[in-house]
Amino acid sequence: MIFTHDTEVALAFVAALADTSAEASDSGVEELSTPAELATLLDTWEYSGRRDLDERELVEVREARARLRALWLQERDDAAVAVNELLAEAHAVPRLVRHDGMDWHIHATEPDAPLARRILVEAAMALVDVIRADQMDRLRACDADDCEGIFVDLSKNASRRFCSTRCGNRMAVRAYRARSLTARPGPSGMDAGTRPA
Ligand SMILES: [Zn+2]
Ligand SMILES: [Zn+2]
Repeated sequence: MIFTHDTEVALAFVAALADTSAEASDSGVEELSTPAELATLLDTWEYSGRRDLDERELVEVREARARLRALWLQERDDAAVAVNELLAEAHAVPRLVRHDGMDWHIHATEPDAPLARRILVEAAMALVDVIRADQMDRLRACDADDCEGIFVDLSKNASRRFCSTRCGNRMAVRAYRARSLTARPGPSGMDAGTRPA
């Protein structure tokens, strides 16, 4: 394990949240366009605390999403400044809590604080761990040229390149086609067997 469990879950949630935007989602459309979609995301991640599920909350969460995506891709020193700003602005007060069957972990907001603020602060607390452990390069953007997805690379050798297997497969097919095209004029026939049928 690279980070503590709660930090890894918090980071995975940020990536999942960011990947609901049209540029990053599997569907290619905005996946946070209604309070119901937001509720589904929160249920999937067993996100506790206050939910208003109104338009205002939705707008705030989408703003938080954009802010976190930018933060995700910052250099370590800049990310540290941004995290400090975020924690100060939200008047974050870290405390250990145990709830819903989860063992002791950190919350830095009250459960009745607005959802977007709790999302930002929880992400900031996770980033505190990432920055302290000098692991900002674990926070990546998808290598697929047509995808704006982000992900946290928790693989042993930090070698993950794509946000999803869908992107990985698509890029593999594209690379294969590109290789086949360049191989075609070759007179040796060496690559003939690797061409798509
Ligand atoms: Zn909690
Ligand atoms: Zn992707």
